[in-house]
Amino acid sequence: MQASSFALVVGAGFAGSVIARELADAGWLVRVVDKRIHVAGNAYDELDAHGVLVHRYGPHIFHTNGERIFDYLSRFTEWRPYEHRVRGVVDGRAYPFPINRDTLNQLYGLDLDDTGAEAFLERVREPRDPVLTSEDVVLNSVGRDLYEKFFLNYTRKQWGLDPSQLKAGVAARIPVRTNTDDRYFTDTFQAMPKFGYTRMFEAMLDHPNITVELGVDFEDLRDNMRAAHVVYTGPIDAYFRYCFGPLPYRSLRFEHEHLAGLTQYQETGTINYPNDHAYTRITEFKHLTGQTHSGTSIVREYPQAEGEPYYPIPRAENEALFKRYEELAKAERNVTFVGRLAQYRYYNMDQVVGAALAAAKRLLD
Ligand code: FAD
Ligand code: UDP
Repeated sequence: MQASSFALVVGAGFAGSVIARELADAGWLVRVVDKRIHVAGNAYDELDAHGVLVHRYGPHIFHTNGERIFDYLSRFTEWRPYEHRVRGVVDGRAYPFPINRDTLNQLYGLDLDDTGAEAFLERVREPRDPVLTSEDVVLNSVGRDLYEKFFLNYTRKQWGLDPSQLKAGVAARIPVRTNTDDRYFTDTFQAMPKFGYTRMFEAMLDHPNITVELGVDFEDLRDNMRAAHVVYTGPIDAYFRYCFGPLPYRSLRFEHEHLAGLTQYQETGTINYPNDHAYTRITEFKHLTGQTHSGTSIVREYPQAEGEPYYPIPRAENEALFKRYEELAKAERNVTFVGRLAQYRYYNMDQVVGAALAAAKRLLD
């Protein structure tokens, strides 16, 4: 057997699991380790103590325009069509979010049609050029009042930063619409794995060439490794022992709650609370999963500085620090860095699958 046909994959989330499967299908022997005691990374779902399927690390809604990515995952799961809807609470009332025509009409007591909504936004927007920060993005498209009602405080809570301190891409995730479409995403493919993410990952990793070891930290292996190739999907600064200092990540505390005897808690999958409470949003899982149950389970997300690294923080100085680590990564022989933490990118799940497929192809070519 060739030396190159062994790989150690660090992390059993989307990045690690997709690469592991691709290499295994190509005949490599793959050892996957994760320091957590489960697969699926942050997409991990499980039945809670009351039998409701919940996402331990916050709500994960799958959406993509990439047919290739959707087809790839479809090898490992059936799907349940699901289009996510969100409301944003302002002054005690829930409005469609992202902002659309109905938001404007309800908020300001208007009766605009699509053209009227366009003209309204044209009137209130504060044109910015260039559009560099998240503040620029929002002011440029909807003006100050909507910025202050829906974006400013949510962003401060979520990131501990003002929108003016974050790159444009953060707020640019949220569209603004002049029609009445109230879906959170407009991607071609929007669906949830029919039996949950964890089952999908188990199917992906179920291969005679793959062994999975859980509760194993790469730090405890790295000095005695025999793998010809390492695929590393953990935080890049940790890999290099923080030699340039730690990269900033934003963390969350998840407060899960089961409400016995209540079949539905809220009207949409997620309700955002830009201006009230220490949490940013509440998600009710039964909307996402379609599960029937006499009770319901919700999760509140409390942003915090310390804890598990969930979000890279998109700011110029952080990206400059990442670039320094990336230079080291490029020089690291026989190691592939891929995923949200290893590439320090605010990737959605489908983007991680795409990055992992591309990385696997580079290894196999
Ligand atoms: P991860 O899922 O983080 O997997 C990395 C794995 O590596 C982890 O399991 C970790 O334990 C392991 N690891 C790290 N260091 C070590 C080590 N030293 N040794 C061993 N193992 C290690 N995306 C969407 O598309 N839609 C959504 O609705 C959505 N919602 C989200 C909500 C929240 C609250 C968060 C935080 C993210 C959300 N995402 C969503 C993004 C999604 O979670 C990520 O894109 C995806 O999970 C990243 O996969 P990954 O494999 O790169 O990383
Ligand atoms: N955002 C906001 N108000 C909201 C929802 C989002 O200001 O009600 C901003 C905020 O900065 C957030 C970003 O838009 O971090 C992206 O939101 P998204 O819902 O995509 O965040 P994620 O689901 O990745 O946490």
